[in-house]
Amino acid sequence: MTDAQNNIPVRQCPICKKPADLNSEAFPFCSPRCRLVDLNQWMEGRYAVTRPLDPQDIDEGRPDTPEAPGDAGP
Ligand SMILES: [Zn+2]
Repeated sequence: MTDAQNNIPVRQCPICKKPADLNSEAFPFCSPRCRLVDLNQWMEGRYAVTRPLDPQDIDEGRPDTPEAPGDAGP
């Protein structure tokens, strides 16, 4: 048995149709670049008519509110 790899279907990069490496961190894309291209297309489709991102949009993980009032002794 030397053809084990033949059991694995080759995944094509959805962007450029080159074979994508299963072990690539960009999988199922052939490269990080193609992944970005796809992400861009997705974002443009979804957010085509929205305003640009501003910092408040990603400010969900804000730090603790300072100076909790109450039982902090002198
Ligand atoms: Zn590609």
